[in-house]
Amino acid sequence: MKQKKTHLVVSFVALAALVGFVALVARTGYGRAQTEAQATAARPLALAPERRADESAPAAPAEKDAHAHVHADEKGASLFAAAAARNLLLKYELSWAFGGKQQRGWHLYTPLISRMIAMEGGASAGDFAEALSLWQKRSRLQPSGVLDGETLYRMVSEWQGARLKHKAHARPEELLLAPATDFYDPTRPEGLRHVERETYAAYKRMVAAAAADPTSGLRLTAAGDIAPAELFLKIVSAHRSPEYQARLRAQSPNSGRAGLAVNSPHFTGRALDLYVGGEPVETRDSNRAIQVQTPAYRWLVRNAERFGFRPYYYEPWHWEYVGAAAGAAK
Ligand SMILES: [Zn+2]
Repeated sequence: MKQKKTHLVVSFVALAALVGFVALVARTGYGRAQTEAQATAARPLALAPERRADESAPAAPAEKDAHAHVHADEKGASLFAAAAARNLLLKYELSWAFGGKQQRGWHLYTPLISRMIAMEGGASAGDFAEALSLWQKRSRLQPSGVLDGETLYRMVSEWQGARLKHKAHARPEELLLAPATDFYDPTRPEGLRHVERETYAAYKRMVAAAAADPTSGLRLTAAGDIAPAELFLKIVSAHRSPEYQARLRAQSPNSGRAGLAVNSPHFTGRALDLYVGGEPVETRDSNRAIQVQTPAYRWLVRNAERFGFRPYYYEPWHWEYVGAAAGAAK
């Protein structure tokens, strides 16, 4: 009898806890996705290393998505409203890992993700989930419309798989000396201004196309040339010798595997770091959040492939020339 009573009390406490938990989720489960309560509701988070950086990141996209979601609900039209609500949370809270580093959310990759699932422009969150489900189906994943860890890892492996495969170090005759005016730092010494020849030609064609396209946001002179003060799409870094890379690594020994690679694609002369805003080559989430919002970066995401360039998804500034054939094949 006593045992039964204890059992009842335990059940009641468990029920009360559950009710409290559900109430907490219901109260916080609407709108902005960045509260700790929601993070806890979503999954037990191991750690939150970038909390400060995330908080300083622009909140506007979350607000916009929240409104889009409300709109979709009002219409009652979207079958993917539940997936959209989940995406709104995971966008900032999904816990995953890359390069031995814990990562949080996939909001930094939304331009690349939108391109991958062919959902360009200001689509509502429901439309995003629907387009994602079609991509998941093509990729033989569960077509849930939810951008979960499995889906994100699949996308990462596609981005990584599209990168430069030809890793041979550039021979001196394959390199040309680019003019200082192409560089973010016009005082960059000659020894650090070499680019593989085809890559450079493709880069110049790409920048000319960007200048001719107002959506790139590049500032022009009255004659239609890129304004001398314009820094966007200037080259921050191109060919690096293994010796120079070793010096960079020695200067920042804690940059990790996702940082300064031992076997860098910059050895080929076909990798370009281009200025896309913020601190030129700095991986903090708060910096990358600035970079992925700039018109120049978004223009690259939409157009660089036409010129044979593929992104390194993790570094918005890093683009690799895989060749015109590969670029045109799609
Ligand atoms: Zn790079």
